[in-house]
Amino acid sequence: MKLIMKIGFALLFISMISCSKQQQKRWYNQAHKEEPVESHWSYEGETSPEHWAELEKNSDCSGQRQSPINIIDIHTVEDKDEESTIELFYSPKTILNKVRNNGHSIQFDFDKGDSIAYNQTNFNLVQIHFHEPSEHTINGIRYPIEIHLVHQSQEKNYTVLSILGVEGEQSQTMEDMESFLPLKKGEEKEIEKAFDLSRLFPENKSYYAYGGSLTTPPCSENVQWVIFKEPIAVSLEEVLKLKDNMPLENYRDEQPLNGRMVYLHKMQ
Ligand SMILES: [Zn+2]
Repeated sequence: MKLIMKIGFALLFISMISCSKQQQKRWYNQAHKEEPVESHWSYEGETSPEHWAELEKNSDCSGQRQSPINIIDIHTVEDKDEESTIELFYSPKTILNKVRNNGHSIQFDFDKGDSIAYNQTNFNLVQIHFHEPSEHTINGIRYPIEIHLVHQSQEKNYTVLSILGVEGEQSQTMEDMESFLPLKKGEEKEIEKAFDLSRLFPENKSYYAYGGSLTTPPCSENVQWVIFKEPIAVSLEEVLKLKDNMPLENYRDEQPLNGRMVYLHKMQ
C-alpha cells in the first residue's frame, strides 16, 4: 500500500513539473511576442528568388505578369485619362498598429484609416515595408531603398504604391519609423499610436503604372503598381539602420515585361 502511494506521489510530482515547464514556455513566448518565422524562401542560396517557383508549388512565381520590372522612360506611354488618376486619402490620425521584423523585411501594420482611390476602386492601406536596395529600377538604375505601401480592396486585389529613396538629407518620417528599431528576426512591437504617413510622399506625384505581381511568394498577379517618378531623400544613416535589420539585399531581380505596357501619369 505504502509503495503504491509513493509511486502515485512520484508520478503526480513528475506531471506537475512537466506542466509548469510548458506553462513557463508559453508565458515566455507571450512576453516576448516571438512568432516562429516559417518560410521556405529567402534572398540567398538554395532558397533565393531563382528557386521560388519550385519551392512554392502553388505560387504564381513563374507567371507571365511578374514584378519588379525595369522601367524604361522612353518606352512608357503617357496616360492623360483623368479618370485613372490616383487619389490619396491619408490622415494624420491613422493608427500605426505594430512594427515587426518578419524575416524578409521590416513591416509596419496600420489600422483602417489611410486609403486611395484608383480606377474607381477604393483600396485601404494595410502595411508598408522596405527593400534595400530597390526592386524596381528606372532606366537600369537601382535606388538605395524602395518603400512599398500595400493597399487592398474589398475584392482582395492590391495596389502597391512604391516610393524610391536616394541618399541626401534625412527624412523625418523615416527617423520616426526607425525609432522603433532594432528588431530581431521574428520580433514585433505593439505601437497603437497615430502616425502621419502623408509626409513620406515626394512633392511631385507623377507616377509610372503597370499591372504585375507581389514581389515575394506567392507572387500573386493581382497587383496594380504605382511607382512615383520623383524619389525622396533619405540619409545614408537611415539606409544603413534599415539594412542592419533586414536580410542583405532583400530584392527580387527584374522580371520580363512580356508585352505589358507601362504608363506615365504626369501630375502638376
Ligand atoms: Zn515589397
